[in-house]
Amino acid sequence: MEFQHVPLWQVDQILDEFPSLQENKKTEVTIVGAGITGITTAYLLAKKGVKVIVIDRDKVANGTTGNTTAKVTAQHGIIYDEFIQHFGEEKALQYYRSQIDAIELIQSLVQDHDIDCQLEEQDAILYTNNEKNRDKLEKEYKAYQKLGIKGEEMDRIPFSIPAKYALKMKQQAQFHPIYYLKTLVDEIKKNGGEIYQNTVATDIENGAHSIVRTINEQQVQCNIVSNHVVIASHFPFYEGTAFYSARMYPSRSYIVSFTSEQEFPGGMYLDIDQPKRSLRTIKHNNQPIWLLAGEAHKTGQYKNSDTPYKILKDFAKKHLEPSQFHYEWSAQDYTTLDKIPYIGRLNKDRPEILVATGYRKWGMTNSTVAAKLLSDLILEKDNPYTALYQPTRFHADPDLKKFTSINTNVASKFIQGKLTTNDRNKTLQRGSAIKKKQNGQNIGIYKDENDELHAVDTTCTHLGCELNWNDTEKSWDCPCHGSRFTYKGRVIEGPAIKDLDQIHDMYEDKN
Ligand SMILES: Cc1cc2nc3c(=O)[nH]c(=O)nc-3n(C[C@H](O)[C@H](O)[C@H](O)COP(=O)(O)OP(=O)(O)OC[C@H]3O[C@@H](n4cnc5c(N)ncnc54)[C@H](O)[C@@H]3O)c2cc1C
Repeated sequence: MEFQHVPLWQVDQILDEFPSLQENKKTEVTIVGAGITGITTAYLLAKKGVKVIVIDRDKVANGTTGNTTAKVTAQHGIIYDEFIQHFGEEKALQYYRSQIDAIELIQSLVQDHDIDCQLEEQDAILYTNNEKNRDKLEKEYKAYQKLGIKGEEMDRIPFSIPAKYALKMKQQAQFHPIYYLKTLVDEIKKNGGEIYQNTVATDIENGAHSIVRTINEQQVQCNIVSNHVVIASHFPFYEGTAFYSARMYPSRSYIVSFTSEQEFPGGMYLDIDQPKRSLRTIKHNNQPIWLLAGEAHKTGQYKNSDTPYKILKDFAKKHLEPSQFHYEWSAQDYTTLDKIPYIGRLNKDRPEILVATGYRKWGMTNSTVAAKLLSDLILEKDNPYTALYQPTRFHADPDLKKFTSINTNVASKFIQGKLTTNDRNKTLQRGSAIKKKQNGQNIGIYKDENDELHAVDTTCTHLGCELNWNDTEKSWDCPCHGSRFTYKGRVIEGPAIKDLDQIHDMYEDKN
């Protein structure tokens, strides 16, 4: 295995390629986004005989789903004590039950279709080496006891990573997400569903039916007329009046994978101290590969001078005896104001539009909760979790404080970005970028390995925030809402639909 800057999940390239949409279509349900949310929703509906069309601006499962760590668990950090304090025991229990239902649904699909995706039971373990956090974790254990969650206290973890206290949630799981989704994609096709890639949804028009406007990579514009639209595009590409831009923030994390001299002792680990580290294994080419994740930061706001990959590798070398590093990759996810995802109808005026987003890096189960809930809404079946995940909710207390701080941060990034001055004196190295002001416009210039320069307007095409250079992934990233662009200006991910303007007349500084 050579070292590669790609996610381990995607190395085998087992997923089919699909055409882009070339003509207008009519269907019962249009699903925008072919990650785990869109594919699972399409699967559940297609199995019930509903005609579905899934479109993706990229390929199937090439977004966050293809870059995850794929722990399948209801242990989502320390949340149950907080949920009990904020929303009461009943809602905290509902959240837990919905996640367990999701794990059971994944298990039953794997069993029904005999999916070879390494789904296996594992305990999930949170740990800390910090006295203050020990107190929090002990409170979390009490919350487990109140909610009837099968937990266990531990006074150490089986690695040389220092830890004074740990909390186990028993009988959770892990899998290979792409092998799992491959079968669901095959089933969607078998049941009459259609999938199109390289097809961007740009808008939803209102009418007797919803019309999803699309444009494909050859710039052909098509409409899909449907009764329902499911927005499964990670950040909702269409917000209506739901203001997701003000109600979620994006955070990136990094993953390095390696073989180790040590034998992995089993379990899936996450520390609750800063900086956080997450650990699990997966068999790849018959070898156990360790996945170490961490170095989370708000998108577009990385501050350390060392790259996240270097920091993670140094941590692995210090504690986990790596024999060889193999793959590394990164991804981002969105967190809502109250840490509960937004899943359900977009708003009262557009009940035919459904949305699922804001999984806080726990999307293997949350996407499955979403797929069940959204398909139940479309099939007009009751679902016990509709109210809990309602996207239109707004919890004034205690989220108000958080809401203000999230928005203050976005506003300050916006203003800060707009005031950025020239970086002219810096020499531009190969593989790096600078920002420059030209005729009143902020431009970002990247020098590639052949000394060719690529200049773009660094104003985000989503809502106009100023982009920052991400030197680790060589991309222009938006610190406000997480849109990301290649150095040539092409949208990679996030809510932006339009590419950045390329600048061809740089260095003609007329100021
Ligand atoms: C580093 C990291 C580790 C994680 N680890 C775990 C874990 O261990 N366990 C866990 O439960 N969760 C984990 N998560 C979270 C989980 O991976 C995500 O929540 C989940 O994959 C999101 O799936 P999705 O289908 O909603 O989004 P995505 O997989 O991002 O799919 C959205 C799709 O929509 C497409 N799209 C976007 N805009 C448009 C448009 N306008 N038109 C057409 N298509 C569009 C995109 O191309 C993309 O394919 C992790 C997340 C991160 C960042």
